[in-house]
Amino acid sequence: MKRLILLGGGHAHVHVLAALQAQALPDCEVVLVSPFERQIYSGMLPGWIAGHYPIEACALDLRQLAARAGVRFVQAEGVALDADAGNLACSDGARLDYDLLSIDTGSRTALEAIAGAAEHALPVRPIESFVGGIESLLVRCREARDHPVAIIGGGVAAVELAFAIHHRLAGEGLSPALSVIGDAGLPLGGLARRLQWKCLSMLAERGIQWHAGSRVVALDGSHAELSDGTRIPAGHALLVTGAGAPDWPAGSGLALDRDGFIRVAATLQSVSHAGVFAAGDVAAYDDPRPKSGVFAVRAGPPLAENLRRAVQGAALTDWQPQKRALYLVATGGRHALGAWGPLGWWGGWVWRWKDHIDRSFMRRFGNPHVG
Ligand SMILES: Cc1cc2nc3c(=O)[nH]c(=O)nc-3n(C[C@H](O)[C@H](O)[C@H](O)COP(=O)(O)OP(=O)(O)OC[C@H]3O[C@@H](n4cnc5c(N)ncnc54)[C@H](O)[C@@H]3O)c2cc1C
Repeated sequence: MKRLILLGGGHAHVHVLAALQAQALPDCEVVLVSPFERQIYSGMLPGWIAGHYPIEACALDLRQLAARAGVRFVQAEGVALDADAGNLACSDGARLDYDLLSIDTGSRTALEAIAGAAEHALPVRPIESFVGGIESLLVRCREARDHPVAIIGGGVAAVELAFAIHHRLAGEGLSPALSVIGDAGLPLGGLARRLQWKCLSMLAERGIQWHAGSRVVALDGSHAELSDGTRIPAGHALLVTGAGAPDWPAGSGLALDRDGFIRVAATLQSVSHAGVFAAGDVAAYDDPRPKSGVFAVRAGPPLAENLRRAVQGAALTDWQPQKRALYLVATGGRHALGAWGPLGWWGGWVWRWKDHIDRSFMRRFGNPHVG
């Protein structure tokens, strides 16, 4: 009997679990290793903060998905990998041998670049801890009505979080001092120009300060210090600075790119170890794509297919990720910005479109709370 380990319950792996539920793998034990029993869907996280969804509607029950697929669930974190020996060490002390390993563990928020970040920042990942941190932040903002919140990062996630926090607190009659600190001139770098300008004007309308071209170098619990010495009030500092590579692959023997992500071929197979696959943010594709949920979701079906083929010893197929992704950026209320390449739109209808896509995704993977 072969053993396939699924490490991490990310977007691609929930699809693999659904595929295994539809059709089991003969003569193969499948094990899912995940530190958390649920996978919180980042696409709906801002909607939870804004008050549109309960947290249960934003979470997939990994233990249940695994049970339905006949997959053994191990609640632990993978902490070290010996890819030559085919052995995974877990945080609970277990060592699991495998014939095949599939990795979908996402990215981490890098704290090292900012002095004091480990003590004073709330990193967006792991999302489970972030959810608890947001609950404390909301309590703090209610206690001290002028509690300043700084969001470090100017991409989709940072902007969505700023709008969501603003919307939630404004609904309670509060107007906290909110700042978004980005290293580019405009928020939403990489998206359509007219959308970036629209986002900037919406931030201004809500009184959210946009600090352009700024790099935070230190945090002390009350302020964020920029590289030019400017100090921005930050009783809470949310760190949303993009995807960094996890540490543990560095000692695994797997081929990595220069940023520490696992290099995979078009088959999603490691370029150095045939028995290892990776998808989502943790993977470095030969034909690179942005680290985003869209590409992690899209990798699910080809990954499921190639894992099945690998177990059966059949030839693998290549996956060609789409060139562009649709980005739908929630702006707090039931309104969103949408981007497809150079095109950009906004309105209530964009939010309803996003809400429909997100709810359908959750329903597809058995979430009973999404309505
Ligand atoms: C607020 C926010 C909004 C976003 N909005 C969008 C959006 O609108 N569109 C978009 O495309 N992208 C968006 N993103 C980015 C998107 O969340 C990520 O690109 C996506 O989650 C990556 O999916 P993944 O499957 O690679 O990993 P993840 O979704 O991060 O899942 C990884 C899983 O692996 C687990 N794990 C981690 N380490 C280990 C370990 N060592 N051992 C075992 N398990 C482990 C984690 O607990 C988690 O369950 C947003 C991100 C945030 C934070």
